[in-house]
Amino acid sequence: MLSGPSGVGKNTVLNQVLRQIPGLSYSISATTRKPRPGEVDGVHYFFCDQEHFADLIKQGRLLEWAEFCGNKYGTPRDFVEEKLSSGNDVILDVDIQGAAQIAKSMPQAVKIFLLPPSLEALRERIIARGAETEQEIERRLCAARQEIQRIVDYDYVVCNDNVDEAVRQIAAIITAEKSRVFRWLSSNDPANFFEGSEG
Ligand code: 5GP
Repeated sequence: MLSGPSGVGKNTVLNQVLRQIPGLSYSISATTRKPRPGEVDGVHYFFCDQEHFADLIKQGRLLEWAEFCGNKYGTPRDFVEEKLSSGNDVILDVDIQGAAQIAKSMPQAVKIFLLPPSLEALRERIIARGAETEQEIERRLCAARQEIQRIVDYDYVVCNDNVDEAVRQIAAIITAEKSRVFRWLSSNDPANFFEGSEG
């Protein structure tokens, strides 16, 4: 799971991480937020109205969902469960509430927090995006302050001062996590390792 304040650059970083790690998939979230210029339905998000989102919740089709700055966001369950059951890894972009929900149902999930170099830098990035009103920008910065205080709930923190460096660090975390002994043991038995070999 990757969390971090709105505007920190999760999309940019994730796109590059996905190109570097074979077999890693991105879970496209559903949201009631309106698309920003350049955002494509089914690529950046599944954009939907309140009614459709309420149906997804009612039908249990979301692994988690949360309200953030007046909009709802949720992770479609089927995609994630299918990928995981076929042995593939999935990366989720979720806010702190979503990360907490996933951590409860999937305690082995890895939680990475992407930090901006400073709140001022974050403000500049949100302004440069040009998609929010001044009031919405303040709301997102206020949310950012609260989110950063929950960093204690995460396993790793990466500062997005330099995109290439942040990508390198996240790719390294994923690579290391894939080599954890408990993950190997979940699909291997050390006793079988010596089968067929001599002595
Ligand atoms: P934005 O509107 O900037 O795209 O996203 C706002 C916040 O919603 C970000 O913190 C982002 O990580 C979070 N978010 C995006 N998708 C999901 C999701 O499926 N579930 C949850 N809980 N949060 C999400």
